[in-house]
Amino acid sequence: MYEVLGLLDGRWMASATGRWLERRDPADEERLVSRCPAMSAEEARAAVGAAAAALPAWRGARPDERGEVLRTAARHLHSAQDELVDHVVAESGKTRREAVGEVVRTAEILDYYAGMDRVPTSYLAPERRPDVATEVRREPLGVVVAITPWNDPLLTPVRKLAPALLAGNTVVLKPAEQTPLSSFHLCRALQDAGLPPGVLGLVTGRGDEVGAALVADDRVDGVTFTGSTAVGHALAHTVAGRPVRLQAEMGGKNALVVLGDADLDAVVDAVVFAGFGQAGQRCTATSRLLVHHAVSGDLVERLTAAAERLHVGPGRDEASDVGALVDRKALEAVLARIDEAREDGARVRTGGRALDDGPLARGCFCAPTVLDRVDPAMRIWDTEVFGPVVGITTVASLDDAIAKTNASRYGLAASIFTRDRAAAARFAAEAQVGNVAVNLPTVGWDLNVPFGGVKASGSGFKEQGVEAFAFSTRTRAVALNEAAFRSAK
Ligand code: ADP
Repeated sequence: MYEVLGLLDGRWMASATGRWLERRDPADEERLVSRCPAMSAEEARAAVGAAAAALPAWRGARPDERGEVLRTAARHLHSAQDELVDHVVAESGKTRREAVGEVVRTAEILDYYAGMDRVPTSYLAPERRPDVATEVRREPLGVVVAITPWNDPLLTPVRKLAPALLAGNTVVLKPAEQTPLSSFHLCRALQDAGLPPGVLGLVTGRGDEVGAALVADDRVDGVTFTGSTAVGHALAHTVAGRPVRLQAEMGGKNALVVLGDADLDAVVDAVVFAGFGQAGQRCTATSRLLVHHAVSGDLVERLTAAAERLHVGPGRDEASDVGALVDRKALEAVLARIDEAREDGARVRTGGRALDDGPLARGCFCAPTVLDRVDPAMRIWDTEVFGPVVGITTVASLDDAIAKTNASRYGLAASIFTRDRAAAARFAAEAQVGNVAVNLPTVGWDLNVPFGGVKASGSGFKEQGVEAFAFSTRTRAVALNEAAFRSAK
């Protein structure tokens, strides 16, 4: 069992409370993976205090000095790759292939933002007043709290930390209770790369305890959150009326539209990848398949067959295509959503049950599930499942497909498969989502592409690429009347 420590003012520590949170392997619940300190609200506030104290020096450091820390941290992750992959698999349940991709991408994100140390951070605004020069400077927001979920335990934290640190913010990270180990590795790589004490804090523990204390702290300037819509909206209430910027990446109920002229082989590949990959536990997972009635029978057959070919098993086993769900509670919730859909009249074409035979007996596995006859009146239509479950609804036309795509409180990702360029263009313009794809899966947005949803999926500030700085920096306008200097003797 691995012991995770918190990071407070540059020191690795357990909690003074003496309490710990244990994490078991979701592929084998008898296996203890790690324990992390269940820190207190007081310790969370101490981390914010350290971040506030470290801010002036860090924001005053040269961008290349900050970039160098990220670059060095990326190298540390590369050299620890094998151990990291094992730990991501053990604590999250995802497959080795998925974990390797995550570790590599995490290092890439550090390198990408390290390379931003030469991006201009100010410009001159044209002035109409004689002798006046007005400079618009981009400066860090200040103390940023990052609260992250378990499904991408390295990637989501690094997407928040890297741009914020490069821009000169200090950050306190509160990772999900289920996946503290990955965050511990990430923070250790950054700390060992030379971060001054207090620039980065790691506060482990319960969301409603330390997470809530971090967000309530008046010394915090920004909160970047990824997780459920319910918690995201609750955080918006907590910060309302205070000068705190909130970035929230929340749920999704992502539609993939299939028109009558689509390449069905490509559709099946995309849905298997985006609907069942990571056991469906991605906010961009394909969960609503809106299929033109001319091809729906054929597609249901093909998708059902493809789902049945997937090998479900422990992530550490190279043969596994689909790993475990994150914990038993998650498995039970997914099965409950499937039961509701059944009660509401959907038909289970394959899956619809836990897999617990033989070597899977001690894990939290769900069979890849295809439902058809799903319609907008059903509970599953607009409830995020976060499991390997795809629901199929037939549509009559492009208009119908667009209307149904938008008949959701969520607006994260959507995609359309068609050979008709005009239909694709209309969909790209009219789907009410932050990320829309044509003849591509709903997942797989590269690190330089702005990412984030609308409606109940996102708060408006995007992650990734240069857009990330819209959240983590603000501008200051400095106007200077040169005339006074000229007349000075
Ligand atoms: P999920 O359903 O994916 O587990 P949550 O929204 O419950 O998503 O959790 C995402 C993150 O938010 C986790 O780090 C969790 O600890 C944290 N969290 C949960 N409740 C609160 C809260 N009341 N205040 C702050 N953070 C919270």
